[in-house]
Amino acid sequence: MAMTEQTAAPQKNGRVNLRTPAVMEAVQAQVQSHYRSEVVEKLRAAGGTLSKAGVTVKLAKQFGFCYGVERAIDLAYAAAKVFTDRRLFILGEIIHNPEVNEQIRVLGIKNLIGKNAEARVDDLTAADVVIVPAFGTDVTTLERIKEIGSNIVDTTCGDVMSVWKRVRQNAQDDMTSIIHGKASHEETKATASRAMVSGKGHYLVVLTLDDTDYVCDFIRRGGDKEAFLERFRGAYSEGFDPDIHLRRVGVANQTTMMRGETEEVQRRIMAAIRERDGGDGKANYRFFDTICGATQERQDALRVMLDEPMDLLIVAGGYNSSNTSHLAEMGEQKLPTYFIRNASRLESRDRITHYDLHAKREITTTNWLPHRPVTIGITAGASCPNNLIEDAILRLFELHGIGRGELLE
Ligand code: SF4
Repeated sequence: MAMTEQTAAPQKNGRVNLRTPAVMEAVQAQVQSHYRSEVVEKLRAAGGTLSKAGVTVKLAKQFGFCYGVERAIDLAYAAAKVFTDRRLFILGEIIHNPEVNEQIRVLGIKNLIGKNAEARVDDLTAADVVIVPAFGTDVTTLERIKEIGSNIVDTTCGDVMSVWKRVRQNAQDDMTSIIHGKASHEETKATASRAMVSGKGHYLVVLTLDDTDYVCDFIRRGGDKEAFLERFRGAYSEGFDPDIHLRRVGVANQTTMMRGETEEVQRRIMAAIRERDGGDGKANYRFFDTICGATQERQDALRVMLDEPMDLLIVAGGYNSSNTSHLAEMGEQKLPTYFIRNASRLESRDRITHYDLHAKREITTTNWLPHRPVTIGITAGASCPNNLIEDAILRLFELHGIGRGELLE
């Protein structure tokens, strides 16, 4: 069926619902052809283990694209199919994967945000279509687009929106939201902006347990306000005053954080409030665990796999992907772990180029691949498509002289 704007359903607030059966059916084939993998499906059907001539590759039980990312990609492809005579824009990266973002560019969708921006929000017109990525966007940007009157295709994940609900509630109840996340991450910026909607809320973003301990010390004993504000520059709301705005706090988190660390942040802040106020601290403290189901499942599946004997682990995904970085972090605590963007990084049996989480750049390691028999684990973050996982699996066998034909026979 030819796609037209009539195929999609217009909604209130400038948003357009593209998830009609007719539109979705039309995009499925295209999405599948870009990201599907026969090898990954076979491997999954075989229980996640593929062995050939002394080389064993194990795939985690849960890996790769999550429901939120699948939905965002479907909607972006649907927008390109339906709005063929409109200018199409997106607010930054649809997800944190360079290969997927390149495909989005190929569809003719131009970026409005960041250093790779191809246009500005103020250049939009009412005839344009703007895609909001899975991480969501901040309130000010969204309001400006509504004011201009552009059509909005909102792919914000429901799990992200449920964090916004908590943060808005905190603001209503005069509680400062302490957000465990990365202040520069799109999702956290979008979440933080929700704390300000009522005009009376505040937020503070903490990333590490060191940050948390610093905040906890201030909660317990007060301290040097200027030093506090300097340390957290760029990570708190305008007008935030630690002497005033740490009296009542609600802890939330970016959806893709490491579960154990987020629980520790919650526990430490609760302990500091209780110590300061006495009693159970409930009047001045609340928390909501907002790690999403997909992040949790991928971390749980990797934890199970890490208990099995393996020589090394490959983690595939975008280097700026939060949930993928946490999988790599989990792996490197147990065994040699290589975080790669795609199979091209598996250069030879002797050389691998991979992302170093600590140096925050790619590095090259030599003599990384043991001789047979060898068992290699593989997993991927929520923004990594199956075709990239397939490339990595095939390359691991190829480095041992085992071609695709032999592998799948
Ligand atoms: S990682 Fe979680 S919050 Fe992010 S898009 Fe996927 S399901 Fe949604």
